[in-house]
Amino acid sequence: MAEQFNEVAQRARLEGRSYLMENEVKSILEGFGITTTGTEYARSEEEAIRIFRSLGTPAVMKVLSPEVVHKSDLGGVRLNIEDEGQVRKAFREMTEAFKDKRLAGIAVQEMAKPGTEAIIGVARDATFGPVLMFGLGGIFVEVLKDVSFRSIPLTRDDAQDMIEEIHGYALLKGYRGKSADIPALKKLLLGISDLLVKNPEIAEMDLNPIFLYPEGYKVVDARIILGEVHTPEDCQGQVQVEAGGNEDLHDLFYPKSVAVVGASGTPGKLGWNVFSNLVSHRFPGKLYPINPKAKEIHGIKAYPRISAVKESIDVAIVLVNANMTPEVVKECCDCGIKYVVVESAGFAEMGEAGRDIESQMKAIAAPYGARLLGPNCSGVINTHSSMVQSIGIVDQLGKGNIGLVSQAGVCAAGMLWGLRHIMDFGIVATIGNKLDLNETDMLYAVSQDPNVNVICMYLESVKGGRRFVDVARKVTREKPVIALKSGRTEAGKKAVTSHTASLAGNDQVYSGVLRQAGVIRAKDYEHMFNLTRTMSKQPLPSRDGVFIVTYAGSLGVIAADAITDNHMVLSDLEPPLKEKLKKLLPEYVGGLNPVDYTFSMDADITRKTLEIGIESHVVGSFIVVLQAEILGTYVQPLKDIDYKGKPIMACVAGKEFAMNAVIEMEKAGIPVFSTPEECADAISVMYHYGRDVRGR
Ligand code: ADP
Ligand code: MG
Repeated sequence: MAEQFNEVAQRARLEGRSYLMENEVKSILEGFGITTTGTEYARSEEEAIRIFRSLGTPAVMKVLSPEVVHKSDLGGVRLNIEDEGQVRKAFREMTEAFKDKRLAGIAVQEMAKPGTEAIIGVARDATFGPVLMFGLGGIFVEVLKDVSFRSIPLTRDDAQDMIEEIHGYALLKGYRGKSADIPALKKLLLGISDLLVKNPEIAEMDLNPIFLYPEGYKVVDARIILGEVHTPEDCQGQVQVEAGGNEDLHDLFYPKSVAVVGASGTPGKLGWNVFSNLVSHRFPGKLYPINPKAKEIHGIKAYPRISAVKESIDVAIVLVNANMTPEVVKECCDCGIKYVVVESAGFAEMGEAGRDIESQMKAIAAPYGARLLGPNCSGVINTHSSMVQSIGIVDQLGKGNIGLVSQAGVCAAGMLWGLRHIMDFGIVATIGNKLDLNETDMLYAVSQDPNVNVICMYLESVKGGRRFVDVARKVTREKPVIALKSGRTEAGKKAVTSHTASLAGNDQVYSGVLRQAGVIRAKDYEHMFNLTRTMSKQPLPSRDGVFIVTYAGSLGVIAADAITDNHMVLSDLEPPLKEKLKKLLPEYVGGLNPVDYTFSMDADITRKTLEIGIESHVVGSFIVVLQAEILGTYVQPLKDIDYKGKPIMACVAGKEFAMNAVIEMEKAGIPVFSTPEECADAISVMYHYGRDVRGR
């Protein structure tokens, strides 16, 4: 009975329809080794009887028409057909009821025994291309929207993750004697992924419902909507990864010479800011201010135009008016400059005319193999090459191990002023309108930098969807990536035929895909920097046990709750270590974890307590709750401890009023949070990243 997708699709196209009916889809599925309730259908009463006799009872009869998408809504599904009389009656009634529709026939199929209802679907996401959805049927999907998404193609791990991710997973594992065959379900998900890879014409698909059983499953209903044959933008990534299309952008991050077209000697102008940043941060390479009206800027010889510079230039920063940029880009390319950073604004963000200028720039640069950053960006900062290209004046920066890839210059420049006290960046790369170099290029390049150990990204959109997944997946195996995705609206909701497409709100797809890529999704701006800061300073916990030392009982209790809420555990120390700890504690101290010193805590006793935890094989990490008023007294003693690779973080209520001590503590490498919940969250994120993503 099985049919090839191509035959079915071609027939449908010839008939001028893009909707594939249940029997057609099921026969394609059968061809893929997927079990269904059957594909046979009748065009006459006698045929219906013949099929019915070949099945066991009870049977189900359904209308098959290219004009009926939701069969049961129109009375087109008859369940529990027990005998031939009922077959004849149902056949007559249904053909009568649907006489106004083009009728392909009446399906006669096995009635599947009840199981746990599930739905699997496919939708096409504007960013990531084909995405697979999984959820449990009925209210789980309709009301609770308890579904998971992944970008296609799926790996075996992806399939497992998307099953485990839904809240209803507990029901699948087993509840009141009912359970589902998870290996079979996994195979089904991979089968659908494979079907999509082989047939990119499929735009949407619903298998709804599927009945899941303790052994096996049955696809009860299925539909497909055909789309355009897909030129696989989303498969590009894989091709590029294999073909080595990802560049480390080394000369952009470590140029020997930088020209600033539009450098200015007038304070307040952007061309002044950018050039001053390069000078004041002591960029060690050659600088070429380009300005026809100046002889020198900041004491450095100026040139009237790029072509007047006779030495080679690695990077040109462009700050001229948008409409002049194509010409300048051309001149840069003619001079053999490989990286052109366009910081000026007034492009695609301003509408059609700006978009035209962008296309011109791209067309000019492409034949030269030159790469463009921006436009509408704030350039690159690399503290290790003492290079600051920002549009805003940037104060002194430490050399750090954080990579930041950010869409908006504002995010990169404005926040540096404050954050530089408590976290150190390596490379900050702003991508602006990402005409050429986009977030995926930057993620890859920044991850290749040996100074960078942790990467955070601020994203408003993602270009080149599937390639992002492939690149991020590789990167996150080595270095953690924390992303904040803004614009979490349910974009792209239009009238859609399939159930899956209506559920594929843009944000839920992002969540699924970021997980698939091993990227940690930050809840908000502060969360992104909290996690980044912590991971830049502390190692990953290798166990889930947490040891809490506190000066105040309440904060210890809150921390203990937060640990449990975050799927971590309070370490129960080994008996000899418990004895050791008891000897240390004053009479009135009760519990052994949290160890609550009730306002009699000082740096010395804290160190001795922590050392017991360091010795323990069940402790993976530490939270110390410290008093803001005496925070400074802890800095050196805590810094001097050898934690043997176990992370520690400090919780300091009211930390914003003890900023000097907080900065000292942060500089000593110990992250400080205001609340126990934030500490527990960070520890949990780090532990789970290390366990599930790193070295996957
Ligand atoms: P539609 O979604 O087009 O309305 P379905 O084929 O999904 O039609 O049928 C509606 C409902 O009837 C299903 O959700 C399922 O509960 C039940 N059903 C349909 N076909 C069968 C079958 N072969 N075995 C058991 N139940 C069925
Ligand atoms: Mg259905």
